[in-house]
Amino acid sequence: MLCIYCKEGEADAREHYLPQCLGRFENFEPLRDRLCNACNHAIGSTVEREFCRKSPEAVLRSTNWIKGQNAGKKNRKAQIYQPENIGGRHLYFLAPDPESGIDILWQTDTKPGTVKEISQIVILNAQDNAVEHIPIPTEIKTGREQSELLSKGRVTASNVKALIIAASGDEERVQTLFAEINQSVPMQRRKGGSVPRQFFTGEVTAFYFRALAKIGFHYALKFIPTITGDEGAFRPLRNFIRNGVGDASQFLSSCDPASSSAGPPGHRLTALAPQAGDIVGNSSGL
Ligand SMILES: [Zn+2]
Repeated sequence: MLCIYCKEGEADAREHYLPQCLGRFENFEPLRDRLCNACNHAIGSTVEREFCRKSPEAVLRSTNWIKGQNAGKKNRKAQIYQPENIGGRHLYFLAPDPESGIDILWQTDTKPGTVKEISQIVILNAQDNAVEHIPIPTEIKTGREQSELLSKGRVTASNVKALIIAASGDEERVQTLFAEINQSVPMQRRKGGSVPRQFFTGEVTAFYFRALAKIGFHYALKFIPTITGDEGAFRPLRNFIRNGVGDASQFLSSCDPASSSAGPPGHRLTALAPQAGDIVGNSSGL
């Protein structure tokens, strides 16, 4: 059989319709006789790569300490939060600080299931609620770069209320940065540990939605014997997955329960991903 995507290559790839980065699945048998190796590799190295490294699932993967593939490169850890060649903002957890109750940004720590604060500026309103979070990337080393960062946000008014948080081990750099721009702000130090709920904010690109479509499509191909995936009705879907043609909303719908902060969604891998704005994932019960 020829590949359902390019119609040229021999369909001899062993496709992991459940991405390997989600872990090992019992009795898993790959999808065969549908994709050629070239298309399988092309989809895996772009579309699925983003799903595995920069997505709500990537964060859950990290908190659950699921080890992913290492692309055959020894001593090279996959960077979930600073993926190479992938645009958009990094993903962070947004969760209450156990001490103050104010929502701050967190990242995973080195021990499984634990988190630590990231260096950040939290902008507060008059009621002391967090209205904006500005991470202080580790690449920022000078006061000038710090000023540029602040001017990109909405932190220009001198009367703005802000909370500065330095991640443990990063205190000296953060203090130096603020001293250089003559800003003296009381530094808050926070303890890591587990947080009561774990939400995160971030931005995904079209690759992410193509990956979701691919997982659903290939799962169907594996378990519904009456379809091959080669049918004309699937042409737009194949084109979306393989070439990014079309709009995600043609093929995917959001999962409403994930948008509720009150209760967990039906599945831990569900997330609400509106066309505009942040994605909201829910990992309650982990
Ligand atoms: Zn192909």
